[in-house]
Amino acid sequence: MMGRRERVRALIVGLGGLGCPASLALAKAGVGHLTLVDPDRVEPTNLHRQPWFQNSDVGALKVEAAAARLQRSFPRVRLEIVARSVGPENVDALLREHSVAIDGTDGIEAKFALSDAAIRTAIPLAYGGVVQMVGQAMLISREGPCLRCLFEGPPPAEAVPSCAGAGVLGSLAGVTGALQALLGLSAIEGRALPGRLFVLNGMTMNQRVVAIHKRADCECAQLAGKTDRPMEARWIA
Ligand SMILES: [Zn+2]
Repeated sequence: MMGRRERVRALIVGLGGLGCPASLALAKAGVGHLTLVDPDRVEPTNLHRQPWFQNSDVGALKVEAAAARLQRSFPRVRLEIVARSVGPENVDALLREHSVAIDGTDGIEAKFALSDAAIRTAIPLAYGGVVQMVGQAMLISREGPCLRCLFEGPPPAEAVPSCAGAGVLGSLAGVTGALQALLGLSAIEGRALPGRLFVLNGMTMNQRVVAIHKRADCECAQLAGKTDRPMEARWIA
């Protein structure tokens, strides 16, 4: 008989410093299906912080290399790969095929597209980000708050330091990705913790939990109660 976690279908968008550890944590937790989404190929600079890849994978599609490693370590997990980026044209459909999603992207446009889609589709999304020595994660469920409550809107691209540009500690990304996996599982198992931003400083080891409130004029406040799905039961048999 299938356990509850074996019926979970998890979507992992971005197979970088966050998506790799998140996929490992979900597979270890017994999640039955993982869909890996990333259009990129493995580069030498990825190797130190993205544990699924080794030298011989350079040039290969990240989703193919990661799926091969996962399948070898977790023969029971069902894997699906999508070698495309996520954008307005496909994000809702991708989320609707899953019970929970992990945001492992490093592009601000993709992050907002995922957050908006999580509100529209009522599929819980674990947001995460790592910049320099700070990692942070928050669960976005359909009641909000969402990424727009947190940041109001996408800042100009040059204002956002990327992981590659700002430097990042691989282990901090590993902790943050694993935390995203835990937040995602909490949502589908009825222990959701929305409205809390978990912040870890990798230099001082200080941890903070910041209460995030819904902005009254945000789309997520207006959509609350108007989505087409029940709040519980994210299980897909
Ligand atoms: Zn919002």
